[in-house]
Amino acid sequence: MGLSAVEISNLEVIMKVIVVGAGWGGCAASLSAAKQGAEVTLIERTDMLLGTGLVGGIMRNNGRFTATEEMVAMSGGELFQLTDENSLHRDIEFPGHPHASLYNVATMEPLVKRYLLERGIKIHLSTRVEDVERKEGKIQAVIGKKGEERVRFPADGFVDATGTAGPPGHCTKYGNGCVMCILRCPTFGGRVSLAAKCGVNEFVGKKGNQFGAMSGSCKLFKESLSREIINTLNKKGVVVIPIPPSLQSGINLSIKACQQYALPDYHKNLILLDTGHAKLMTPFFPLEALRVIPGLENARYEDPYAGGLGNSIRYIGMAPRDDSLKVLGMDNLFCAGEKAGLLVGHTEAIVSGTLAGFNAARWIKKEKPLILPTTLAVGDAIQYVRIKMESEEGLGDKYTFSGSVYFERMKQNGLFSLKTREIQKRVDRAGMTGVFS
Ligand SMILES: Cc1cc2nc3c(=O)[nH]c(=O)nc-3n(C[C@H](O)[C@H](O)[C@H](O)COP(=O)(O)OP(=O)(O)OC[C@H]3O[C@@H](n4cnc5c(N)ncnc54)[C@H](O)[C@@H]3O)c2cc1C
Repeated sequence: MGLSAVEISNLEVIMKVIVVGAGWGGCAASLSAAKQGAEVTLIERTDMLLGTGLVGGIMRNNGRFTATEEMVAMSGGELFQLTDENSLHRDIEFPGHPHASLYNVATMEPLVKRYLLERGIKIHLSTRVEDVERKEGKIQAVIGKKGEERVRFPADGFVDATGTAGPPGHCTKYGNGCVMCILRCPTFGGRVSLAAKCGVNEFVGKKGNQFGAMSGSCKLFKESLSREIINTLNKKGVVVIPIPPSLQSGINLSIKACQQYALPDYHKNLILLDTGHAKLMTPFFPLEALRVIPGLENARYEDPYAGGLGNSIRYIGMAPRDDSLKVLGMDNLFCAGEKAGLLVGHTEAIVSGTLAGFNAARWIKKEKPLILPTTLAVGDAIQYVRIKMESEEGLGDKYTFSGSVYFERMKQNGLFSLKTREIQKRVDRAGMTGVFS
């Protein structure tokens, strides 16, 4: 049931959306809500946007190509355009992953920040949300700290995009300790979940005895590698170096968050990708062992600083939600990115962020929430992951368009395509062309 034109024009002045957490999920939610006419405030506890997207970079591999093109056809493609434009390498292949792009992690953040500011989004950095004010299933305001100053942000709709990484207590309890990753919890304070502060009972990813999952890659300073490796990385984007068999036993790929790279090739080889730094596709690798490998004698970790010992723990604290991404038990709270479930990746976070921001604005306008159709990979993934998370077995897996269980499903169900025109037609048949415009 929609509102009259007069009511809508009144709402345009007062429609306030707060997005907490400025990873890719929060950035996408902010942009999407702003495009629907909301006044958007994006709150981030660190001094930079992009969260774990500050150290990732892989886009468009396997089914992520299809998901990206679906989003472009739905007019939700701006952030993908930015990553495409800022890619160091396009259409490259590394084991199991054809037609990938690698964005430059060193320069991505300021580009996104400028883009959001130009669209009128207010950004509060170094501001950590610590609590909520709520009444009868609705959040009225979030409260927190900017330095020593107490801050309060009232709004009509909220998006929880606080991710699932950290705080350090989780990395200590379920991993190998705080490894000083890009999220810099000891400096800015650990993650605080909005949904949990509302009393929502969150999901915990668990496989066997492992709670959560360890981030699956780390970064080496490119300049700490041999000239030959640097040249190949710069030229081709990829270097594959066989690992001496005596060192292979130290690699544990089963704890990886990104199961799409837990393939035999990643066990036998060091796979390095050029994302500005050299992205090493294992969760961690003892530094002394790494330095035994020819060309890596002087290797040094850029992220996490203690990448020789471990990596951050993620996928603890996901919100129960419906397929519109509304958090169950709350009226005006939506969730995006990893907070919305076991979907791994920047592409995946941008997809759910775009839908969450869109529906937060629609909720304020009293419009029916959008549920993406399952004839599209993006709609199917959101529904599939929700259903899978209802079982213990499903909570042990991770899902991504780029590999593993969900990519297999995409292929089986005819949802995978590399033909842009075909994808556009599918979006059109679903009545979704330009829906996010
Ligand atoms: C090392 C590493 C490498 C990766 N590489 C890739 C890759 O190459 N390609 C790919 O597709 N995916 C990659 N991923 C996965 C991908 O980064 C994530 O799945 C996705 O970007 C998650 O986005 P998000 O917005 O949900 O969460 P996050 O990126 O975790 O962002 C959440 C944000 O919320 C903020 N926050 C938390 N609590 C609060 C609070 N209370 N107040 C204010 N702010 C708060 C955090 O500071 C953070 O910035 C990688 C992940 C890691 C860790």
